[in-house]
Amino acid sequence: MNFYNINNPSEQVSLKEAVLKSVTRVSDLYMPEYIPMLSSEFFNKLNNTSLQEIACNVTKVMLGQDIPDISIENIINRALNFEIPLRQLDKNLYVLELFHGPTLAFKDIGARFMAGLFEYLLRNENRETTILVATSGDTGSAVANAFFNCKMVKVVILFPAGKVSNIQEKQLTTTGGNITALEVDGDFDDCQRLVKLAFSDAELNSRLNLTSANSINFARLFPQSFYYFYGLSQLAATNKPVVFSVPSGNLGNLTAGIIAKKMGLPVHRLIASTNVNRCVPEYLLNGRFDPQPTIHTITNAMDVGNPSNFRRILDLYNNQYNLISTDIKGYWFTDEQTLRAMNDLQNRYLYQADPHGAVAYLGLKEYMERNDCCGIFLETAHPSKFPDEVEKATNKKVQIPETLKDLMALKKGSVKMPNSFASFRDYLI
Ligand SMILES: *Cc1c(COP(=O)(O)O)cnc(C)c1O
Repeated sequence: MNFYNINNPSEQVSLKEAVLKSVTRVSDLYMPEYIPMLSSEFFNKLNNTSLQEIACNVTKVMLGQDIPDISIENIINRALNFEIPLRQLDKNLYVLELFHGPTLAFKDIGARFMAGLFEYLLRNENRETTILVATSGDTGSAVANAFFNCKMVKVVILFPAGKVSNIQEKQLTTTGGNITALEVDGDFDDCQRLVKLAFSDAELNSRLNLTSANSINFARLFPQSFYYFYGLSQLAATNKPVVFSVPSGNLGNLTAGIIAKKMGLPVHRLIASTNVNRCVPEYLLNGRFDPQPTIHTITNAMDVGNPSNFRRILDLYNNQYNLISTDIKGYWFTDEQTLRAMNDLQNRYLYQADPHGAVAYLGLKEYMERNDCCGIFLETAHPSKFPDEVEKATNKKVQIPETLKDLMALKKGSVKMPNSFASFRDYLI
């Protein structure tokens, strides 16, 4: 499969280049030159297929010309060693739980597949590659966990000192081995700035073989399509149209759902559910895309004022607004509505959701008021990752999973870093 750069479609690159080389230029967005269709046999036996088998089938259709089947199976079996269960809350209401991976957020799915793919693509290299990641929390945790012990790869994570949650800090700073956490005396934007400066420094790049693992990388986006198929495979037979509601920030998750639909997934619509960073729902209403400065909310993993995957969505629909706004509906909600939704889910269905999942539930409810359908909302984080908001909204203690208790007992290991490129550069060299 060749990949083209949306910014310059005549620039075609291999899978290896799309994934490893060019991602350091932040504006690059690669897409496969076509979206392949899955066979009718695949869909006929979907109900009896495991998550791992579904993921292998989907990957073989997309990347089977580039990676041998046995390597695809290895990557998938190592990456997806946990369940993604669909739970029924009401007659036509379901929640798909994406948070059963090691860092308890759905970013594990993309990061773990990506780590396996990196290892495969780097198998014949004799030089180490250094991945730089700036994180406000969840991404860095998932990447640290996924790349731990990955051969020929070193990971350097930059996070803002004092600005990530306790759990996130533990997840970022206790891995050790080939993973280093730098605690930057600044905010997330400063971390991002340092990473961008490093990528544009030619000497650093050639000495350290720098690359990125950010969310615009196709290797993180693509595996997120697996669970749309798997969600549907677990659904009891229904003759109603099926819709998925996606709690959206940078739109990686939603884009993966659109790719699944284009690969043949029989899903009627996708719902983009957002917080007050609402440029996508507004675009879907009026056709104007008007990115805004980011507003901070309790669903902080969705605090994105200018989502980078938006251009991928335009590209998937050849810029045709009428097609986009038919397939995708969008709704946005305030923090107050989100807190009330968590309370509502607890009282009506005895379901304790995290704030991000609660936004997806709100979007689905809004849609279902006007449309008869069978709805699935995506729950992207375990509620224990946001204990304050969840306990406040539900009046109920959150259950802390055992793995998290073990993690909290580990000792933090990070390197303090001033907010200066000269110091960061010295450190890297
Ligand atoms: C990253 C994240 C999101 C947003 O996903 P996008 O793919 O960026 O739209 C939603 N919920 C949680 C918990 C996340 O970590």
